[in-house]
Amino acid sequence: MKLTDTIFTDATKAREHLEKTRWANGTYCPHCGGLNVTKLEGKAARPGTWQCNMCRGQFTVTVGTVFERSKVPLNKWLLATYLVASSKKGVSAHQISRQLGVTYKTAWFMMHRIREAMRSDDTTPFGSGGGGVEVDETFIGKDTDAKPSKMAIRNMCKVVSLIDRDTGRSRSVVVDDLRPDTLWQVVSANVSREANLITDEASHYKPMGREFASHKWVSHAQDEYVSFSDPSVHTQTVEGFFSVFKRGMKGIYQHCGKQHLHRYLAEFDFRYSNRSALGCEDSERANRLLISIAGKRLTYRRTGEACYA
Ligand SMILES: [Zn+2]
Repeated sequence: MKLTDTIFTDATKAREHLEKTRWANGTYCPHCGGLNVTKLEGKAARPGTWQCNMCRGQFTVTVGTVFERSKVPLNKWLLATYLVASSKKGVSAHQISRQLGVTYKTAWFMMHRIREAMRSDDTTPFGSGGGGVEVDETFIGKDTDAKPSKMAIRNMCKVVSLIDRDTGRSRSVVVDDLRPDTLWQVVSANVSREANLITDEASHYKPMGREFASHKWVSHAQDEYVSFSDPSVHTQTVEGFFSVFKRGMKGIYQHCGKQHLHRYLAEFDFRYSNRSALGCEDSERANRLLISIAGKRLTYRRTGEACYA
């Protein structure tokens, strides 16, 4: 995909592109999964309509995807997808609204649907095979110049992020608190027992560290950001991820409530895990996102926003 591609300006080309992506292994019915399907031709049929010969249902390529039931033409959806995938720090709904010629409200809902599709379904534990996994937590809240009070910190959102050093991927989880059992739930669900855990010196990591092949930490209290004795022991990768996330949240996404934070994290995890440094350029990243969108069942209906765009 390039920005000059006709799939971004022509709705028919966009549909054909999505068909090729979603049905790379053959067209199937989204209602029953049947493979015995017929493309409806002729003037009476809406272009891109298929009929299932098993359940007799009709469908188009957007049925069951985050693009379903949208009045926004598919070429604009593909453009929004490309812009989100190729931006470095995120794209604002205002920018999408301007570039696509849709209202701000529509752009906002489009962005949330695209983010929904960026959520990874991969639950493979990090560090499988004995690699290093960095774990760290951070606070996300409104920026104030003053040093936040204890109460302000308590009200900030808390995020735990993990980096798999072997694959270079990140995974982030919003948590209610930073109690040891909360952190243990995140770490035990996402880190392989054969991994080498790398954290800062925070006391809550020490007991759980014994559950892994090894546990090493840096002592920030002693101004140690890379272990003096072992340069591989640091949490700078995960801190770098937080830095990109926070800059993005500050510059682009000023109004993010806690209820949406996991979606923004999914977006940043997706871009981080499919970044240029891992050999994934803009066009490939956009393609991967489209494949993810095509394979993702609708879940945003739960939030009652289905019929907006
Ligand atoms: Zn069917």
